[in-house]
Amino acid sequence: MNPADPGALRSHPSRRDFVRAVALGAACVGGGAAGALAAELAEATQGGRRKLGIALMGLGLYSRGELAPALQKTQLCRLAGVVTGSREKGVKWSQKYGFPEANIWDYSAIHQLAGNPDIDIVYVVTPNGLHPEHVIRVAEAGKHVICEKPMANSVADCDKMMAACRKAGVKLSIGYRLQFDPHHIELDRLAREKDFGTLDRLSGEHSWTFTQRAWRIEKSLSGGGPLMDVGIYVIQAACRAARAQPVAVTARELPKTRPELFNEVEETIEWRMEFPAGVVCDASSSYARNNNFFRAEGARGWIRIDPAYGYRGIEVDTSRGPLAITPVPQQALQMDDFASCILTGRETPVPGSMGRDHMAIIEAIYASAAQGGRRVEVARA
Ligand code: NAD
Repeated sequence: MNPADPGALRSHPSRRDFVRAVALGAACVGGGAAGALAAELAEATQGGRRKLGIALMGLGLYSRGELAPALQKTQLCRLAGVVTGSREKGVKWSQKYGFPEANIWDYSAIHQLAGNPDIDIVYVVTPNGLHPEHVIRVAEAGKHVICEKPMANSVADCDKMMAACRKAGVKLSIGYRLQFDPHHIELDRLAREKDFGTLDRLSGEHSWTFTQRAWRIEKSLSGGGPLMDVGIYVIQAACRAARAQPVAVTARELPKTRPELFNEVEETIEWRMEFPAGVVCDASSSYARNNNFFRAEGARGWIRIDPAYGYRGIEVDTSRGPLAITPVPQQALQMDDFASCILTGRETPVPGSMGRDHMAIIEAIYASAAQGGRRVEVARA
């Protein structure tokens, strides 16, 4: 399928399944979102409207391996350009994905996106420490923005990014693909409907064995170690299970097994989040082992998602037995939902304020670890 061809909309083989999946994804935010998205899809797929154009900024592993392929499955948006430091790479992408070479921009030329009718959304997929500058420059060019997680390296930067988007009148969304994953939506449902009682004992870990020397261990670019990179997913799951922001945290960094590699960021960190009404979550994240789960328990049962945070292969077990949940293309749902938000004017379920909330928790975790595990209250917005 040529993604640049709006006619491709009409020939997508699994559109009905996809509409259902998208509606499911949108339903996680409640309200009329699912209906709005279904209506948008119906209108778009009946041939009226062009898909919204997305430019990917930063053509690294995530853009190449996940987002560009996902944009071949989206119904409301398409890959229409790239922002990259390598013109040669951009040309290869334009040939592979069928967008004009005129839609390849260097980082120094972000302002040239202003007024370009092909691009509606820029998806910022660069190292964390560059997100503020990139998001603000995209907003100033008048384009809607999706910014990868973590939103930035500090709450102060998150505030500047949200202010810039507000000022420019553009929407800002954070790349929390799991908001659209049905396994995690089931966690939302259990938390809301209390089948197992209030989910008050939470635990989770997201860790992977990291061995390269790259921006992820340079503090100015990463903001921190595994907590910033993947521990943030445990924070997201815990906030969903608790249906709240934690009030306080305690944390400790574990001794480094490879101090020569992790001389700027933590290698392993453990933390406890205290939510209102006595709900607690014990969590950890490491670059020295592989682990990937989330568990929530109430008085009448438990749910365990394991593995919990991948693009694929998520599984759910409960005290009533395992659940068979059909997987979905997370990133395609995420991008289509944002496109729908732009088309309908509704608020995204993964707004900048969510990225900021998580950053406030992360700042409190690092502050606690730096102060020998002292209890630190999470700053309120
Ligand atoms: P990567 O290293 O594979 O790619 C980073 C890209 O940024 C490269 O194309 C690189 O050329 C470009 N870049 C621009 N300026 C740079 C600079 N000064 N230093 C280094 N690179 C620079 O990284 P990635 O894994 O694609 O991660 C990019 C972002 O996406 C991060 O914020 C990361 O947290 C996020 N991410 C999200 C998910 C998810 O599931 N949502 C998964 C992977 C990564």
